[in-house]
Amino acid sequence: MNQLPKIPLGHFPTPINALPRISERLEGPQIFVKRDDQTGLAFGGNKTRKLEYLVADAKAHGAHTLITAGAIQSNHCRQTAAAAARYGFECILVLTGKPPKTLSGNLLLDHLLGAEIKWSDVDQRDVILERTFQSAKEDGRKPYLIPYGGSNPLGASAYTYAFGELREQILSGKSPLSNDPDWIVFATSSGGTQAGLVTGARYHNFRGKVLGISVDEAAETLQKRVAGIANDVSKQLELDISISWEEIRVNDDYLGEGYAMAGDLEADAIRLFARLEGLLLDPVYTGRAVGGMIDLIRSGFFSKEETVLFWHTGGTPGLFVDKYQSLYL
Ligand SMILES: *Cc1c(COP(=O)(O)O)cnc(C)c1O
Repeated sequence: MNQLPKIPLGHFPTPINALPRISERLEGPQIFVKRDDQTGLAFGGNKTRKLEYLVADAKAHGAHTLITAGAIQSNHCRQTAAAAARYGFECILVLTGKPPKTLSGNLLLDHLLGAEIKWSDVDQRDVILERTFQSAKEDGRKPYLIPYGGSNPLGASAYTYAFGELREQILSGKSPLSNDPDWIVFATSSGGTQAGLVTGARYHNFRGKVLGISVDEAAETLQKRVAGIANDVSKQLELDISISWEEIRVNDDYLGEGYAMAGDLEADAIRLFARLEGLLLDPVYTGRAVGGMIDLIRSGFFSKEETVLFWHTGGTPGLFVDKYQSLYL
């Protein structure tokens, strides 16, 4: 496999923990967690891995300013702002929505990390992003555009390497997982994480299955997007792998009221993990994915003999967003 240039941003390998009390309570498969909520960059999360490659590319291009876009409470934007600070870039974030009256969660951290924020309506986002990029360029700020969710083939490659990290942990005998898990389950949205993981799974002849729980998109839309990115990742890393969209596993049964609209599914999952394992999930991504996983366990989707690795993708600053305050109590 091709080794792409990267700059260090996080703490790797992230730990793997067993979740015995959750596993016992749910009377289902043995559950483990891969702690990418602990990647170490300003509260961590899955975007840290992608940014190690994306920011290396920005440096190689002589950029001075990182520009990216996301939702108000974007974890990707917060980690990009932190990566920019760490390597002396300026950072401009295009956030969709209206500036709220109070700052909380990731938005508070964006400000703390020194990012400049531009607001945009959802349907205007690409226009505003392009305008922001052009004007930064004209002002001599040498901008570099990081895509939504960091999910281009370069960013997604990070999760192909992450699969190698998982394999090494399993083979080392020092992690609680002594074999490939039967399932890897995680929250999927812009698709880069899943694209990287499925490419890594194929490259490493993984014997389990990779299942993304969608937080906002219809399964088929995501399957096609993930396969597209995965095939580009494979080219980028010079792997001879081709992946069809039908073999990408996405579950879209848990979209509820829509993106970032947490309800009982998320709240129950967050409380259960907090109170049985002292493990924090987030209301937008991992709460929804674990809520879905719990529902799948209760409905007998996984067998009791199986092992499931929940790949925790972070997002925990979302716990402190004012609109969710009453949710977990
Ligand atoms: C961005 C994000 C995801 C989704 O990852 P994609 O690569 O965009 O599919 C999942 N969980 C959290 C916490 C995230 O911030």
